[in-house]
Amino acid sequence: MKHVELLAPAGDLDRAKTAIRYGADAVYIGGQSFSLRSRASNFTDADIAEACAFARDYGASVHVTVNIIPHEDDLEGLERYLRFLQECGVKAVIAASPTVMRLARECAPEVEVHCSTQLSVTNAAAAEFLYRELGIDRVVLARECTLDDVKAITAASPVPTEAFIHGGMCVNYSGRCTLSNRMTLRDANRGGCAQSCRWMYHLYEGDNEITEEGRLLTMGSKDLCAADEIQGLLEAGVSSFKIEGRMKTEYYVASVVSAYRRLIDELEAGKIPDESRMAYHRKEILKGENRAVCDGFYKGCAGADSLITRANSDADVNHDFLGRVQSFENGTAVILSRNPIRVNEQIEVLSPGKENRVFAPAWLMDENGEYMEECRRPMTALRMPVPFETAADDIFRRFG
Ligand code: SF4
Repeated sequence: MKHVELLAPAGDLDRAKTAIRYGADAVYIGGQSFSLRSRASNFTDADIAEACAFARDYGASVHVTVNIIPHEDDLEGLERYLRFLQECGVKAVIAASPTVMRLARECAPEVEVHCSTQLSVTNAAAAEFLYRELGIDRVVLARECTLDDVKAITAASPVPTEAFIHGGMCVNYSGRCTLSNRMTLRDANRGGCAQSCRWMYHLYEGDNEITEEGRLLTMGSKDLCAADEIQGLLEAGVSSFKIEGRMKTEYYVASVVSAYRRLIDELEAGKIPDESRMAYHRKEILKGENRAVCDGFYKGCAGADSLITRANSDADVNHDFLGRVQSFENGTAVILSRNPIRVNEQIEVLSPGKENRVFAPAWLMDENGEYMEECRRPMTALRMPVPFETAADDIFRRFG
């Protein structure tokens, strides 16, 4: 079985480095223009150059989203930008517009062109057309493909395929939604999506409101979790597994990437997990998740149970991330706290390339040297004893 690429999202340089340290083979990032997710903390030119240098040191690579659907006045500066990406050593641009694809071919011939999921490729003929007419090097399949679609397209496509395995889903075909445009005048296809599908709505039948008192409705999709489809996707010959979420936190990136890394490595080594091992992998993946999940379209058309119809105000909040290690010396770690921590509570440590380890701190001390039973203040430089070695950037999270 060939090695599949694990491709992780990164909203900034810190998250790109975190994803690579925790096992991503590649990261995809967006510059300050020409990219969707314009509200993610996008990369400056200097950040892009640094991300490429960092990735090279780890044998990883950087893909850059240039996936805006450009209107005439969005094109200025694009050629210069594409040349700059090539100079930095970017491996690929992810593009949705034929204009961007053509320009990338002309201005940055050493950079691969990957066709974005926004083009909704759901059959091999579409991949063949894009290869023949626009010279693409890879196709990112539509999230609406079933596993059978993925198998058939990958077998017949003249270019490698990339498939989403985790993260947010649009309730519409990606790139074919104007909800945000209409509700907020923010163009989803120029980086402005306000995620209007996740808002709460009153539902009317004619003039009669049929939403119950205090129970407004949303129409957002659950997130995708394809843990159970990884084996099938590997057998299909998919070249890259993509995790969605350039807006997500470093905790999400570290947690989800390391969990999928472990599962993929086991499968590539020929170890087929039994049900209890799969339950472990699912649990590990979902520790980084803060929304309900479904298996998307892989088993067939996603039905009503893949929607989040009732909003839960706590659904987007994850309190498990306790902090990131700043230093470790003589058995004492200093972390920058992010959520409340108590003395003697069980803490799980994520370290790149290692099994997770668990301990319970016998004491906590703040930056003023004060012992405390509980730290409730985020961004405190908190000391605690740890019975094994940890290193800067390791992640502490609540165990459970
Ligand atoms: S409003 Fe929802 S469905 Fe539409 S583009 Fe935004 S996230 Fe996707």
